[in-house]
Amino acid sequence: MSWKLKKKCLDILAGEEGYVRKVWGDALTICLAYPNVYRTGMSNLGFQTVYALINGHPVCLCERAFLPDPGDEADHEASSPLLSLESQKPLGDFDMLAFSLSFENDYPHILRILELAGIPLATAARGEQDPLVIGGGIAATLNPEPLADFFDLFLIGDGEAVLPRFLDTAAALRRRLTREEFLAHVQKEIPGAYVPRFYRVATQEDGLIAAREPLDAAFPRRIERRWAVDLDAFPTEQVITTAGTEFGNMFLTEVSRGCPRGCRFCAAGFVCRPVRFRSVAALESSFRRGLEKRKTIGLLGTAVSDHPDLIPLCRAIIDSGGGSVAVGSLRMDRLSGPMAALLKETGVETVSLAPEAGSQRLRDAIRKGISEEQIFSAVEKLIEYDMVCLRLYFMVGLPTETDEDIEAICRLVKGIGHRARRSSAGRKGFRRITLSVNQFIPKPGTPFQWHPLEDTAVVRRRIRRIAGALRAEKAVRVTHDIPKWNYIQALLSLGDRTVGKLLLAVHRRGGNWAQAFKEVNVNPDFYVYRPKETGEILPWDFIDHGTDKQFLISEYRKALSGEYREDN
Ligand code: SF4
Repeated sequence: MSWKLKKKCLDILAGEEGYVRKVWGDALTICLAYPNVYRTGMSNLGFQTVYALINGHPVCLCERAFLPDPGDEADHEASSPLLSLESQKPLGDFDMLAFSLSFENDYPHILRILELAGIPLATAARGEQDPLVIGGGIAATLNPEPLADFFDLFLIGDGEAVLPRFLDTAAALRRRLTREEFLAHVQKEIPGAYVPRFYRVATQEDGLIAAREPLDAAFPRRIERRWAVDLDAFPTEQVITTAGTEFGNMFLTEVSRGCPRGCRFCAAGFVCRPVRFRSVAALESSFRRGLEKRKTIGLLGTAVSDHPDLIPLCRAIIDSGGGSVAVGSLRMDRLSGPMAALLKETGVETVSLAPEAGSQRLRDAIRKGISEEQIFSAVEKLIEYDMVCLRLYFMVGLPTETDEDIEAICRLVKGIGHRARRSSAGRKGFRRITLSVNQFIPKPGTPFQWHPLEDTAVVRRRIRRIAGALRAEKAVRVTHDIPKWNYIQALLSLGDRTVGKLLLAVHRRGGNWAQAFKEVNVNPDFYVYRPKETGEILPWDFIDHGTDKQFLISEYRKALSGEYREDN
């Protein structure tokens, strides 16, 4: 073992508060891996939640592992397999290696971690002595198929809903059954479990899926996405605090899950249904725990602004000894004067708003449910309470988008800047609008799952158009993502099992996608740029995401026809 790597683990642990180090003994040992570096993984509340859930089981033990920092990879290759953080054990020594999967662009890192751990990449090549490789998280819940060749098992849905029964079963049976027997038992008995190799997928000559069959009649044909009914039954909050994360200065706690809005592009609005809010009592006790560790409480969730008690909750934090609140993006139609006043009281100077589209027509098509008047009124309210910086989120490449919609983004941003300057006359001076322009990527389980990704060249041109039109606006700074990586994300979001061949090739080519595309006889445009028929079998159709397919189809058609409904 490299002492340099061991010392690095010990240094990281010395900077953490709240990690658990259990005695191995007879415990079922699970290494929870995040397919990115420590700083990114530890900023993920889902990752920390699963860590606490597993360690909360009396017979299970959980340690963590991450993609090594670039400077450490050579040491791993030369002298040491990848080690767990807590006890610096090789990942291959654990009973299970579980990956928390939030972002598709991290998928190549999974293969890198398996390689550095000395674990065979393909499920078919693993033997009885190898850990079971398990995946969970929102990306796996949306569509696990591109990863099917590399994972022995997926757990689909909320970890709190699917893990307890799985852990009980694993603790009782994993060491008594062979690998195959255990996986078959789990597939039959645990709702939300999915073992890809127990399902045969037949493909037509044109690449479309012809049929999908379980190999055993006792296996469920459809995999149910599990969801936690009562959020108050468990806290979902930061369990490890460390300065080494994106939000190192705050304590994160989850306020809500799901969203009642149903914006047609948004996975959280469809796949995480129904909306659930934590009660004031449960949150107040989480705040008390958090304020012992940090002064700022970060409220997370997809519908934070919709929490019916958001204002009293923020007040409770502020009144408890000078705590402050951080919230992500706020819904503009929920931004009241009292809410803005609270933000000011807590020292907030920058607020994020997400109009998503510039024209009313396109906001209606994506069912954003926000009018231009509501946008301006929210801006004026924020300025009235001395917010001096705004971050605005827009998407390009949305279904039905035209050049006119891009012009509308420029007009709206200029209009917001004008209102902000006008409203701030005689007050704290308005400083800046940061415009964040991201490409729309169709996601499984949403009404736009059949829609193709907009051509990368078109998106580049539209981003350039926005940046050019706003160049003269001194208070506006434009940032945007990189269209090339959006293409890869769409491929990994919308792909089927064949896309696994590309993942393997890109891993062997050191991350070079262009070479992987040349090497493998798979057309990535088939998944990314092809408009899908609503009647075809999509790779993820076997997952019951909890939304009726006919409803998704009708929402998609309404979007394309410009129809907008207030109900539902
Ligand atoms: S309001 Fe936000 S979280 Fe809710 S559906 Fe719309 S985009 Fe998604």
